Amino acid sequence: MSFSHLGLSPALLSSIAHLNYVEPTPVQSAAIPAILENKDIIAQAQTGSGKTLAFCAPLLQTLRPSARPRQIQALILVPTRELATQVAATLEDLAKHIAQEVKLAVLFGGVSVNPQMMHLRGGADIVIATPGRLLDLINQNALSLSQVATLVLDEADRLLELGFADELQRILDLLPKSRQNLLFSATFAPNVETLAFELCVSPARIRVDDAIDVKPDILQRAISVDASRRTQLLRHLIKSEGWKRVLVFVATKYSADLISTKLRRLDIAAEPFHGELSQGKREQVLADFKAARVKVVVATDLAGRGIDIADLKVVVNYDLPRSVDDYTHRIGRTGRAGASGVALSFVSAESQAHFHTISRKQQLHLTLESIPGFEAQESMQQPPTVLDVHGGIKGHRPSKKDKLRAIAAQQNSLKKEIED
Ligand code: AMP
Repeated sequence: MSFSHLGLSPALLSSIAHLNYVEPTPVQSAAIPAILENKDIIAQAQTGSGKTLAFCAPLLQTLRPSARPRQIQALILVPTRELATQVAATLEDLAKHIAQEVKLAVLFGGVSVNPQMMHLRGGADIVIATPGRLLDLINQNALSLSQVATLVLDEADRLLELGFADELQRILDLLPKSRQNLLFSATFAPNVETLAFELCVSPARIRVDDAIDVKPDILQRAISVDASRRTQLLRHLIKSEGWKRVLVFVATKYSADLISTKLRRLDIAAEPFHGELSQGKREQVLADFKAARVKVVVATDLAGRGIDIADLKVVVNYDLPRSVDDYTHRIGRTGRAGASGVALSFVSAESQAHFHTISRKQQLHLTLESIPGFEAQESMQQPPTVLDVHGGIKGHRPSKKDKLRAIAAQQNSLKKEIED
């Protein structure tokens, strides 16, 4: 199948050719013709499947000529500012060869609202926004959604997971009743299904996991190691495996700061990446990571969610993710666009039970490896006596206090590690 069979205009085909994409991915083959036919879409598509282009290309093709002032014709809601930036970059790349001058507005929180308000003067054709900031701007009369013809919910599962359900409802109430709805989600828990059902009319359902060939080529490994030796092991692996660029996931912002500090002390260029850093700093870290000025980025789940680095070969779960979905999202940072990658999880005595839960739900059949010189000394057999910060141990839900206690214990062990 080639892109030219999907009904896309010559201008868009030319933009796609300049991006060096030879063939559409399965989600693109299925979604693009349906969107061009003005159908509603419910698509199950992982990050890295090419879903962004799957909705951006038809959106650009179906834009009406811009009025003066411009009216918002398409609204793309995303869970994070990184994803907003990524979607905008795809739209800009695709719009390069089309005749119409398309004005995008990218709206997210954590930065001053004024430049976004200024940018909205004169309107915009397509808005890409996180829900909270969009509502702020609507409340300040900076934009109106009354002319939106297409709504895209990108990573709908993530939008709901991050607690945006109320904001979403308020935004939906402001949209015209008659519109096209495109919902993309990696997972379909009942809350996502309900949202999809409420939103879409006779939708085309697309499941990309039917199309095995986009399954990224990711080698998953699990290594048993004492919690207190993880940084040393990481350093050992970086050197012995010759890793050039590593994305490391941790449970807290605090750990991200501490571990990157410790790696720097070990002469490894490392930077933290989390929600408390300014947008400018986050952009700088990503630019340095892409340019290989930084070798290791230590990220929390939320911040790491939007990282899109074309040739990222290695992702390390220094702390295990809280949920199975987070596991999928984390390892999806590697093996993108047909490249291969390695996703490696550190499993300590405390996190072993949680690792088994993830393995069971993900149907992973990984053997716990030991790295010579880093064999776990703590017993890996016993059930954990302290609940780990990740919770999720069947039959015993950690209370808030348990979680705080576990985080404090983890931070003490990290501090000890840093001081050693
Ligand atoms: P997603 O996050 O699902 O939008 O996937 C984006 C990744 O897929 C980016 O790295 C794109 O460069 C890449 N991509 C999108 N479409 C294609 C295609 N048809 N062929 C190869 N790579 C693609």
